[in-house]
Amino acid sequence: MTLIKDELKELVAQSGRDFYEKGLTWGRDAGDTSLRDPETGLVYILPMPSPSLKIPTWASITAKDVAVVDMEGRNVGSAEVHPTVELLTHLRIYQHRPDANALVHSHGKWTRVFAAVRQPLPALMMDQFLYTGASLISCAEIGPAGSDKVAMSAVECLGEYGKVVLLAAHGAVCLGGDMNEAMSVAEISEDMARLAVFANTLGVAPEITLADFMDKKATRESLLHLEI
Ligand SMILES: [Zn+2]
Repeated sequence: MTLIKDELKELVAQSGRDFYEKGLTWGRDAGDTSLRDPETGLVYILPMPSPSLKIPTWASITAKDVAVVDMEGRNVGSAEVHPTVELLTHLRIYQHRPDANALVHSHGKWTRVFAAVRQPLPALMMDQFLYTGASLISCAEIGPAGSDKVAMSAVECLGEYGKVVLLAAHGAVCLGGDMNEAMSVAEISEDMARLAVFANTLGVAPEITLADFMDKKATRESLLHLEI
């Protein structure tokens, strides 16, 4: 219990409120966020609703409602607070991506257009391309929310560098080194999806590839650190 940090519970509760305000969830307990503490390996995550915890929207969430689990998913926080049903998706991504310390699983209205048609979200603009992992955004296989099948398919789509994956008929998962980055990646992804919908009404928009702005010496790693 001593490893649990109140400031990280507050940070996750704040991210839940922010994420609702930014329109990254349509309401109730749709979507969720989490944070991994690299020091202890504990994961702080939004909860599932229960008879004692009604969640009209994430706007009502406070630090005491945040669940804390270890990397195997064992509850180490308050016994009355249970993690979201999508816990496994968060854990699998943390297990496979040591660079990820925060996840925003959004139910945003524009990325959900691509999740609905289960097609990759194309990379059309240079800034978006770099901030979201320098590749198109793939769509994971359909399956029950929170299942290992969906979680592992998401891990596979993300690969080593991806920062966003679409979940078929569901939403998106965005990652970052910290919560600010994960939240910003989620907002950029919404913008990318909106832009792609409109751009494609004018004809098929050409997709960006690494070759478009990589000279012979540049590597994907160096591009991902490029500020534009
Ligand atoms: Zn969801």
